[in-house]
Amino acid sequence: MKGHAAVDRNTYDHVMLPIYSPAQFIPVRGQGSRVWDQQGKEYIDFAGGIAVVALGHCHPALVDVLKQQGEKLWHISNIFTNEPALILARKLIDATFAERVFFANSGAEANEAAFKLARHYAITRHSPYKTKIIAFHQGFHGRTLFTVSVGGQPKYADGFGPKPADIIHVPFNDLNAVKAVIDDHTCAVVLEPVQGEGGVTPAAPAFIRGLRELCDKHQVLLVFDEVQSGMGRTGKLFSYMHYDVTPDIITTAKALGNGFPISAMLTTENIASAMTPGTHGTTYGGNPLACAVANVAFDIINTPTVLEGVEKRHNLMVNFLNDINQKYSIFGEIRGKGLLIGAELKAPYQGKAKDILQLAADNGLMLLSAGGDVLRFTPSLIISEEEIAQGMERLEQAINQLV
Ligand SMILES: *Cc1c(COP(=O)(O)O)cnc(C)c1O
Repeated sequence: MKGHAAVDRNTYDHVMLPIYSPAQFIPVRGQGSRVWDQQGKEYIDFAGGIAVVALGHCHPALVDVLKQQGEKLWHISNIFTNEPALILARKLIDATFAERVFFANSGAEANEAAFKLARHYAITRHSPYKTKIIAFHQGFHGRTLFTVSVGGQPKYADGFGPKPADIIHVPFNDLNAVKAVIDDHTCAVVLEPVQGEGGVTPAAPAFIRGLRELCDKHQVLLVFDEVQSGMGRTGKLFSYMHYDVTPDIITTAKALGNGFPISAMLTTENIASAMTPGTHGTTYGGNPLACAVANVAFDIINTPTVLEGVEKRHNLMVNFLNDINQKYSIFGEIRGKGLLIGAELKAPYQGKAKDILQLAADNGLMLLSAGGDVLRFTPSLIISEEEIAQGMERLEQAINQLV
């Protein structure tokens, strides 16, 4: 490495902005749902890079397209369009309610675009006072100042000075709370159909349907942040497809590029037409390298084999979790949709998620939490039954060492 001394976990504390406290081991290689660290120790990956690596690590078809496109064209800017972006946009449109697509590089950027679009549409089509955004407690939409302000977790949003104005938060799954604040000055209602970071909480179908009615009544755009719940994660291409409801805008990121950074905002032709050249932009968004990878990921994820396999794996994982719970009585609610599963820790284990993650790592399992009280499982959508069984065995060992 250019004569630099080898790096280890201690290096992190000396060179990185201290906004994370990463695990003690350093992964260096991955294949499917297995990962190896610097010492060659093997891990089963139930984290999937936080719901990103939906087809596992180094999927051969994705490695192939990355190499092929890597020798053709990486980046050309949006002053010129490119074939992979147009092909990917066409695929997303054909598979969803949407008619127009905007590409960016991260979930936060796709949401930033969605919120700006919702405001701009309402201001230009209705009134300059139609700017209120209704969002939900425990919601998560990214870390830019606008998106973190729409998110419903003050611990992430506070401490950075004045926030974008006119954002109001109400309890999730509480339709009456929305009814009480929605009005003709509201431009958007924003939610995750399954709250991910905030604790793995699915929206109730009646709540989603009620939101659609309220939005129609007040000419409000219904925005679904599907950054985590989209691209097959819940067993449908997008999770809005589980409900009998069509949103006005959705955003997707995480699994869209299976680890190559790319995100998208999808909407209708009418809403999109509020924007004109220059209203919004991005340097990298929709570059050919990212879109080429996403095209192949999309083609693999959007197949009955992969989508239908999600439900099967969900049931398998939940069965294992129930078995563990029978022995150790550690979980309260086990919830979620598809391969976005949360296991709530009950007293006296509340607040111990981080300890369990550490013990899991010791036992060769990569796992996530959602806050201090919920273990979160977001593995590859094509993780094998054997890998699920092995990972659950390691989780049980970890829990056995905790209790
Ligand atoms: C991860 C996430 C984001 C933020 O995505 P970044 O790529 O980190 O900007 C936004 N919304 C939801 C629902 C997410 O899970």
